[in-house]
Amino acid sequence: MVVQKFGGTSVADPDAVRRLIEIARTARACDGRGPVLVVSALSGVTDALLTMAAEAGGGRTDGALQQVSRLRERHLAMARALVSDGALAPLCAEIDAHVDELDAVVRALGVRREASPRTLDVIAAMGELLSSRIVAAALVHAGLPGEWVDARRAIVTSDDHTRAAPLVRETTAALRAVVTPLIDAGRVPVLGGFIGATADGHTTTLGRGGSDYSGAIVGAGIGAAEIQIWTDVDGMLTADPRVIPQPRLVPRLSFAEAAELAYFGAKVLHPSTIHPAVERNIPVRILNSRKPEGAGTLITADPDPEGGELTAMAAKRDLTVVDITSSRMLMAYGFLRRVFEVFERYRTAVDVVTTSEVSVSVTVDDRRHLDAIVEALSEFAEVSIEGEMALLCAVGDRLRAEPAIAARVVRVLEEVPLRMISQAASRRNITVIMPQADLPHAMHRLHEEFFG
Ligand code: ASP
Ligand code: MG
Repeated sequence: MVVQKFGGTSVADPDAVRRLIEIARTARACDGRGPVLVVSALSGVTDALLTMAAEAGGGRTDGALQQVSRLRERHLAMARALVSDGALAPLCAEIDAHVDELDAVVRALGVRREASPRTLDVIAAMGELLSSRIVAAALVHAGLPGEWVDARRAIVTSDDHTRAAPLVRETTAALRAVVTPLIDAGRVPVLGGFIGATADGHTTTLGRGGSDYSGAIVGAGIGAAEIQIWTDVDGMLTADPRVIPQPRLVPRLSFAEAAELAYFGAKVLHPSTIHPAVERNIPVRILNSRKPEGAGTLITADPDPEGGELTAMAAKRDLTVVDITSSRMLMAYGFLRRVFEVFERYRTAVDVVTTSEVSVSVTVDDRRHLDAIVEALSEFAEVSIEGEMALLCAVGDRLRAEPAIAARVVRVLEEVPLRMISQAASRRNITVIMPQADLPHAMHRLHEEFFG
């Protein structure tokens, strides 16, 4: 039995939901039960909810309430397009009840003028509560035994509002108590992604883009055979299509490769999605809900036995390189500790690090504390910074055993002024840093060489 997660564009309008229903129907016919569905908010809704909260918190309550009523209309219109007869009135009443609550919270926020993270979560969670209600009712209307599940009863989280962490043991127990019996009874459970609740019942969210994570948590908790992430692209691509006009689809890759790519800016998969699936060794498949017949991208524990020399590449822009040089570093210990203590003090993450005998270069993408960091480092080293840099990362499991591949990556980029080159312990990626202006050319060269 599979868990199918549908992103915002895959539930954006009535036609998208109709496609979702046929996708679920096919899975059910194939497996004889399930599937379990995890859905995002309709596309744009989470953004709209957070804008409303900001407006109301800033005292512009009228504007926020207008948006609340637009949201109500959009969801009611969806309901009318997908459900009819006796089922429509109860669905509209559910939608109204959620939106009435939203209206009340927004009004209260307009009075109090301060949005606590707890209140933000109550507001942000509305998108998934509404979309999951509609999808469950639409399934029933289409002849499938859809059953709405309040995800707040199934995903138990910490109280770190707006970026809550699921509590694995509690969540597994809750999923088995709430979702598994429905599957056993032949139903198609439908949960909103992104949302959960603390053990004492306060609504939480898992952080933006968190529905993929929810899909994986549910899949792991109920022991699914596969977790499918249905989205609006064909799968993971060999390169960013905005730069490379015709990237290829990556048919299969390993969890480790996917994690590296996601970390270095590939857009498809939220990095945290990997963890629950990896732990339970459940394959994850990325699929296009507009082209359900496509094979998509399969992510498993093992790399593709038929994979090429590289699996894919990813890039990250707007980085700053910080060069830290000190003759005292020569043969000394403790120098790197002092350097990294400074970054730690300013809570600034470092992406890539290279060192020579007397210098360390690091890249950062959060510039907020850069001035203070430079000042603190200058107390014991010479520091220079260079902005508008980009990172290009080539990922592939075969890099581990075949050193010639890394050498070829660098050779292909010989006309590009590379500032840093790094291949760390995993040896699954080779990362190079260059001026941002050179990135498109570098990506084209690399793509032509390895994927052309
Ligand atoms: N609706 C949430 C967001 O836009 C979660 C998700 O769609 O993954 O961030
Ligand atoms: Mg998403």
